[in-house]
Amino acid sequence: MVENSVEKTPNVELNWARIGEKWRKRWAEDKIFETEPESHKKKYFLTVAYPYPNSPQHVGHGRTYTLADVHARYKRMNNYNVLFPMGFHYTGTPIVSMSQRIKSNDLELIETFLQIYKIPSEKISSFKEPKRIASFFHEEIKQGMNEMGYSIDWRREFTTIDKGYSKFISWQFRNLKKKGLIVQGSHPVGWCPQDQNPVSQHDTVGDIEPELIEYVLVKFKFEEQYVIPTATLRPETIFGVTNLWINPDIKYVIAQVNKEKWIITKEAARKLEFLNASVSIISEIDGSDLIGKSVFDETRRQLVPMFPASFVDPNNGTGIVMSVPAHSPYDYQALVDLKKDDNTLRKFAITVNIVPIKIIQTDAFPSNDSPPAESIVTRYSIRDQNDPKLEEATNKLYSEEFHNGVLLPNIDQIGNLSVIKARETIREKIIKEEIGTTMYELKNVVKCRCGTPCVVKLLTNQWFINYGDENWKKLAYELIENMEILPEEIRQEFTNVIDWLKERACARKSGLGTKLPWDNEWIIESLADSVIYMAYYLLSRHISNNLDLQKNEDMVLADNLNDSFFDYVLLGKNDRDLVAKDSKISIQLLEKIRNEFLYFYPVDSRHSGRDLVPNHLAFFIFNHAVIFPRDKWPKQIVVNGSVLMEGKKMSKSLGNIIPLRKAIYDYGADSIRLTMLASAEILQDSDFSIDLVKGIRLKLYEIYRTINTNLNIFTTSRDSFDYDVDLEDVWISSRLQHVILETTSAIEKFRIREALHNILYLMDNDLQWYEKRKLAKNKSISNNYLREFFETRIKLLSPFAPYFCEEIWEIMGNHSYISLAQWPEINQLRISLISEDNERLIQGMIIDIQKITKVTKIVPKRILIYTASRIKSKLYRKLLDRIQSQATSNFGEIMKEFVNDNEVKDLVKRNPDLVRKMIDDILSESVEVRERRMKIDSFDEAIPLQDGISLLVNEIENDHLEVNIYSEDNDDKYDPKQKSKFARPYKPAIYIE
Ligand SMILES: [Zn+2]
Repeated sequence: MVENSVEKTPNVELNWARIGEKWRKRWAEDKIFETEPESHKKKYFLTVAYPYPNSPQHVGHGRTYTLADVHARYKRMNNYNVLFPMGFHYTGTPIVSMSQRIKSNDLELIETFLQIYKIPSEKISSFKEPKRIASFFHEEIKQGMNEMGYSIDWRREFTTIDKGYSKFISWQFRNLKKKGLIVQGSHPVGWCPQDQNPVSQHDTVGDIEPELIEYVLVKFKFEEQYVIPTATLRPETIFGVTNLWINPDIKYVIAQVNKEKWIITKEAARKLEFLNASVSIISEIDGSDLIGKSVFDETRRQLVPMFPASFVDPNNGTGIVMSVPAHSPYDYQALVDLKKDDNTLRKFAITVNIVPIKIIQTDAFPSNDSPPAESIVTRYSIRDQNDPKLEEATNKLYSEEFHNGVLLPNIDQIGNLSVIKARETIREKIIKEEIGTTMYELKNVVKCRCGTPCVVKLLTNQWFINYGDENWKKLAYELIENMEILPEEIRQEFTNVIDWLKERACARKSGLGTKLPWDNEWIIESLADSVIYMAYYLLSRHISNNLDLQKNEDMVLADNLNDSFFDYVLLGKNDRDLVAKDSKISIQLLEKIRNEFLYFYPVDSRHSGRDLVPNHLAFFIFNHAVIFPRDKWPKQIVVNGSVLMEGKKMSKSLGNIIPLRKAIYDYGADSIRLTMLASAEILQDSDFSIDLVKGIRLKLYEIYRTINTNLNIFTTSRDSFDYDVDLEDVWISSRLQHVILETTSAIEKFRIREALHNILYLMDNDLQWYEKRKLAKNKSISNNYLREFFETRIKLLSPFAPYFCEEIWEIMGNHSYISLAQWPEINQLRISLISEDNERLIQGMIIDIQKITKVTKIVPKRILIYTASRIKSKLYRKLLDRIQSQATSNFGEIMKEFVNDNEVKDLVKRNPDLVRKMIDDILSESVEVRERRMKIDSFDEAIPLQDGISLLVNEIENDHLEVNIYSEDNDDKYDPKQKSKFARPYKPAIYIE
């Protein structure tokens, strides 16, 4: 009966839903995550990108928030006054377009809501109203965050359409405009033709940021009256053009483009319209009709033939390509293929006797060699123009020529110039002399969330934030140089973004949000109103957006907010008394808000997904750099990868989306949290699977069971135990210090997977060894050590699995919250360097003996163990010293030196092989072990070996086994087979009878 109940305990008692609810309620009742300024305490202000409430959360959304929560909880246990707030981003078109999809009865979306997220259909029909969508999912996401156990101060929650927030954003924009950073003009943007709106990452399917490229269009004359334009990124290669490529299988159009008649693809005509060309299509023409005819190149004043090629893509550029066979592997290979293709040659009645024209030389491809494209095509063994390796060959050659290329001396106007210089010179000339122009295009395929393929549009009178401003860039660089970026390897990505950012559209004609303060037709877009809002968390709870709350005297009415209020509170400008009067609040309240800002700002850590590096996080850096003084600049950014489901991206079409709240309901928040964090290091995509969740949950049960079966040690007074001082006691205590040290430093650098590996698995290995050693001696484990071990483990685990740890903390007899407990500290006195080698030696001895008995099938009656002589230990120490301090492990060098060392020369001369083996022994140890052994003065191996005999006897399962340990130096030793001479330090010799 009793046994049964012990066995059942974990499954019956550990009700994940119940403990989640229990602790959530207690935390809220005791307001333990509500944070006020406390002048005597160091603050830590941590934020994470706020969510868009336009759809429910699935497990993929949870990783960034969970990481931030772990960070908050870790800092809280390290005595920081931690503020972790949350808001909701309503701005822009995502919510509006979601409501439009519902209005137009989008069955796929409705099915997703019904089937995957189980949203009642009456609710879904109310989603035709955008704000209903927002408020529904706002609550849904908030519930999910609460159920996940996030330690958020909810009093500071706001939405970006609150009146107070709009006043704050208006202030930000007037501020930027005053500094000359908001400009109006014509600039290309990614664009949805359906919504008539610019698109950025937040508006596209799959959250893809549209990337723009600018082509130079080189105009070739055709039959006097027509222009055939080709798009190129390498205008300098015009001097190497031998022909144009036309796709014979597609239709082209003759179109009036501004004042000229162009021959281009229909797709190109459409793109040009969005770039504000006046375009009207006159007629169609087959590609095949152009082939064999020639165009006139105005740069070199010569004729160039047009040849057929199937690789020409009508969607790319103008659908006509200039061919530079000396420097483009594709062009070279297409010509080779064409020369062999008699059918095509006959069909179009053309002869091809083209000689590639070399115009660029590099060290890798000098001028007297064959054309670079030919060389590289040969080197890559390209089969034909459809060979996938062509892409790689092209990238290689383009990159080589871009970075190292110089134009040949005989090239008109640009001879001897670098490729970079030549490109710029020719580009300017072509545009100035109107023998060409430019054209923007999307580099990647991007679809708007409404399903429409995006294009590039040249917007006129559009409002832009000028991230291209040189002085602003300098400030942004300065900020990022002084900022910690985790992981550090992503810093270069940030620098690159700051480098290439230019003007960026900052307002739209539709969507939710704040109107541009000086031009009410425009609404500030979502990546512009979300860059300094972290400051608003410190104001939001003091601002009332609602007139009904006017009676609350401790708040400022949003209607009464103006720029002078924000200037005072956020920048310390203006006269305090005047600002208070203007805002119709007391001086005390104004001071309180100002002081709260001064106390908590700057942001100590900003968490976000990796996909936000090129936009949100970069803008966050830029805007802080220019609006706030240096002491208010953010201090750290933490970037994490995304979440895959069993190796695949989560998507509706794959049917592998798991709603977050359902996962919590099924498996408990703690297991979900651990799975999100344990399966990958921070920048990698983590791989989520239900099997992994179940595995982690089993591990938690196991921890729970172990602690439960030892409950007596927590309820008995600490003083009634003694600290035992057997070798294994010293060891387990020392190991615990190492685990604390290593786990803490892993968390500090966000090597979370490593930290969790220590807590969940390595600590078990330690405990098992400790128990085995005690058991072998017929001793019980030391309650004090065990108690420390469990307490430490639960504390280390608590930022990751907060409900589980609170529950166990209580079971252990504590009446405080583990969420507020002190992070384990290292006790230097408990670190025993020698204890690691003690236990390793015992472990090694047992493994070696087991191997021998297994191979020889001997049932041992007597085991003889020989430890190395003193002189060998001395030699070992000298070798270790030599290898560590002078970083050489060269056998010859070491021998040369040691044969002259009076202390060891006899041994070295007699036994060079021993020296070699000992060098190998040392090199096979980790640097950590070597450094540790350097610190140990003398080590008598016989002590741990003697101590480990009881365990050896246990493991060999022979109670009558006799074990003798001798030093090699012992003249009376029993050594029938002369084995002792094989003993080396840390590698005793073994003989079995
Ligand atoms: Zn659209």
